[in-house]
Amino acid sequence: TSVVAGSLPDERATLMLGAAFAAAARPGLTVHLRGDLGAGKTTFTRGLLAALGHLGKVKSPTYTLVESYPLSEYSVHHFDLYRFADPEEWNDAGFSEYFGPDSLCLVEWPDKADDLLPAADIVLELAVAGEGRTYQFQAQTPTGQSCLIRLST
Ligand code: ADP
Ligand code: MG
Repeated sequence: TSVVAGSLPDERATLMLGAAFAAAARPGLTVHLRGDLGAGKTTFTRGLLAALGHLGKVKSPTYTLVESYPLSEYSVHHFDLYRFADPEEWNDAGFSEYFGPDSLCLVEWPDKADDLLPAADIVLELAVAGEGRTYQFQAQTPTGQSCLIRLST
């Protein structure tokens, strides 16, 4: 199972996909979130965080670049690199320190950091399709593959 794909008719479906993914995810995972503005990357993350027990709101980290959520099981770090002008900003900000075996990292606009960004275990691509969205998870490491197997069973 290296690819899992489907369609999301409405916002609720995107939130539920995030929740399903939360059940399959484990700390240490790095997820790159791809797709145009409005494709549902932050909505997916909201669903994931709610399922992991986050009760407050989820701010899009468009201006802050990262929002961290210390949850009961482990920490989730949600990046949005849309406003990066230069990949070197990744190093300047010391963002690599957020990645490790004890946290789950989700990165919107990963291309903005080029190859400075830690490699993805899973790439999620979201796309607008009519009124809804489509999604495709792709595993890029054995860890990512195990996660997709849990997700699809
Ligand atoms: P991104 O982070 O990719 O820029 P957002 O998650 O902020 O996108 O979502 C943009 C808009 O798309 C939100 O208004 C959200 O409610 C809506 N949306 C999310 N998923 C779906 C879906 N499956 N169908 C229709 N609208 C959706
Ligand atoms: Mg977003």
